[in-house]
Amino acid sequence: MKNCAIVGINWGDEGKGRMVDLLTENYDVVVRFQGGGNAGHTVINEKGKFALHLLPSGIFRDGVVNILGNGVAMDPENLWKEVSEVVAQGVSITPENLKISDRASLLLPWHRELDELEEQRLADKKYGSTKQGIAPFYSDKYQKKTILAGELFYEEELLAHLADLMEWKNLTLTKVYGARPYTMDMLKAWLKDACEKIKPFVCDTGAFLANANKEGKSILFEAQLGSLRDLDYGIYPYTTSSNTMAAYAPIGSGFPGAKISDVVGVVKAYSTCVGEGPFVCEMFGDEAEELRKAGFEYGAKTGRPRRVGPLDIIATSYGIEVQAATEIALTKLDVLSYMDKIPVCVAYELDGKRIDRFPFPIAQNRCKPIIEYFDGWKTDISGARTWEDLPKQAQDYVLYVEKTIGCPITYVSVGPERESIIVRK
Ligand code: GDP
Repeated sequence: MKNCAIVGINWGDEGKGRMVDLLTENYDVVVRFQGGGNAGHTVINEKGKFALHLLPSGIFRDGVVNILGNGVAMDPENLWKEVSEVVAQGVSITPENLKISDRASLLLPWHRELDELEEQRLADKKYGSTKQGIAPFYSDKYQKKTILAGELFYEEELLAHLADLMEWKNLTLTKVYGARPYTMDMLKAWLKDACEKIKPFVCDTGAFLANANKEGKSILFEAQLGSLRDLDYGIYPYTTSSNTMAAYAPIGSGFPGAKISDVVGVVKAYSTCVGEGPFVCEMFGDEAEELRKAGFEYGAKTGRPRRVGPLDIIATSYGIEVQAATEIALTKLDVLSYMDKIPVCVAYELDGKRIDRFPFPIAQNRCKPIIEYFDGWKTDISGARTWEDLPKQAQDYVLYVEKTIGCPITYVSVGPERESIIVRK
């Protein structure tokens, strides 16, 4: 069977959750391979409306096994909270349909606190962190100063390891930030209240995936955020602290030899960006407010109003290139129905010259968007289920985008519900 990755092409919030929810029907296993509880997927299906942060979006499908891979920032407290909420809405979550890699590093109690303390220190130079501890977590992981989930099964060694890490981390907390130190009692309480709850789900997911592959099962890799937030390829330093690329999926999943034949890139019919950093196509004033309201563009995790703009061909083409996307899902086309004219950012102007290539992050601060307008359709398209149901202007917009980004648009989403989709293949 073919393996597939679903990735964001832009700044995140493209609607990946709804696409994974839709496509899981064709896959046996869904794996989250990077990131943590710092962003959210919104999924609406026959079971209700859910805001997922860490849980893979395949959790709603019977028979699908969901995996949190070794590349994920495994936050036991937040995961358990999320599991409890989803279970309370009637979804069954057991060690049969949710498995946590024993090689996933645990987000430790001080990571969230350090995130907050550092954003406070930075004041008006802050990165716009969601304060979920992701940046301190990944820094510590690469310094080899975290705990692997599998260590929960080795209590004696675990306590000694935690004591060492605590001694080291208390130096930073107290001497750099003037914060209170952690004690072993606090860490023992965290082990009991959060880690014990997730322990039954922890196993050798690498072995599970290798076996699933041998048995011909198909795997869907689910990314968080988008290309432009990738640590190496995004708008550094306004990126996340992990790799959001399809190319990272094998490494972060626990199945480094995985072959991925399909990469579905999710692109929103307009642009949004949460937090700080360059965003060349940004709209302001009433025009922005109208689009924000129409698309309900407020962060799933933080409730922050998202910055908005027209579809950015430059950023999108770059995002597709770095993801090596083989097809595109264009989401939220219905949101543009109120517009008389649909703006599109077709190029940037840098120091008086037109450029067609996504520039180096710092240079983006000097760029201006070059906007062209397309005819609007001014009619509700949320009931469209086939290509022919779309008005000609909406078809022309999709065809224009497809041609300029050079990648087939195989899905057009016209609403948040599972069935609000036009499949073009
Ligand atoms: P993700 O992190 O990429 O999954 O994106 P988010 O969940 O943060 O944002 C997508 C939002 O748009 C969610 O509230 C979805 O329910 C909603 N959504 C997804 N696709 C569509 C669509 O085609 N039309 C509309 N109106 N909303 C959509």
